[in-house]
Amino acid sequence: MTEGLLDRYDGIVCDLDGVVYAGPDAIPHAIASLQSTREHGTRVVYATNNASRPPSAVAAHLRELGLLLGDEDVVNSSMAAAHVLRESGAQVRIVLPIGGEGVARALREAGFVCVGDDDAGAGTGDIDAVVQGYGPDVRATDLAAAAHAVNGGARWVATNTDLTLPTEKGIAPGNGSLVQAVRNAVAVDPEVAGKPMPVMYDMASERIGAADASRVLAVGDRLETDIEGATRGGYDSVLVLTGVHGLADAAAAPKERRPTYVLADLRGLTQPYEVETAGECDAGASIARVRGLLTSLWERVDAGDLSAEDAAREMRQACGS
Ligand SMILES: [Mg+2]
Repeated sequence: MTEGLLDRYDGIVCDLDGVVYAGPDAIPHAIASLQSTREHGTRVVYATNNASRPPSAVAAHLRELGLLLGDEDVVNSSMAAAHVLRESGAQVRIVLPIGGEGVARALREAGFVCVGDDDAGAGTGDIDAVVQGYGPDVRATDLAAAAHAVNGGARWVATNTDLTLPTEKGIAPGNGSLVQAVRNAVAVDPEVAGKPMPVMYDMASERIGAADASRVLAVGDRLETDIEGATRGGYDSVLVLTGVHGLADAAAAPKERRPTYVLADLRGLTQPYEVETAGECDAGASIARVRGLLTSLWERVDAGDLSAEDAAREMRQACGS
């Protein structure tokens, strides 16, 4: 029997927006493919930069779409921020949470005291750290409180720095835009917990019980977060073409944003991974042929024979993507 992609790994860490769902709805083929991945004996953990919903709400949404999973199979960037504070070894007790309810919840679950809790005491001078995540109701006064604490010496951790956020009504300013507003009033950059930092991949890898990063596969739709995070953490990665980035983006990507594998959709997880290096590449070309073209474009870019822009153009012309 031919080896499927999954046979090389103990588990996968799967992004959500653009990979499993778009808004409330499932991405075509995602649910059935993830179910057969699980039946195949491969552990699946879901990891998202979007911390606007707590993991239990995300898990409930995924169960509604037909997946079997527990709440503990979802990690988000608020949990990653708490993990960063806990693992740093620094003396952090009282934390100012900025963002939705999920931020404070993740901090309390990790053993921190949040400003405003009964045992927090009073006074901004007591704040050891600020964790800033997205929340639809974050106000200018919240951002001011964050800036005051950071200027007073508190550590500053951003759950993620995505500049925009897709919503049902269209593109909205994301957490990165609100972090930038605070940055304008302080003299330091925030520590970042979400992708492209590999913290969530490491947390997921621990849950999977993998011996090391080489046994875990990261799956996502964005090159500068999902794929770069995998590269930074030493994980192999899959770019799945159902979300934000396409083949032309991949062709133009710098090395740290190049995926190990490219899948048209998640059905590819349970299939053998084939690459064809010869033959025509046109609008009707197989995904195997497209993978071969992508590799040859990267080689030409690295050799200095082709610019990133021209690589993207060649990929667009070849595949009509
Ligand atoms: Mg995504």
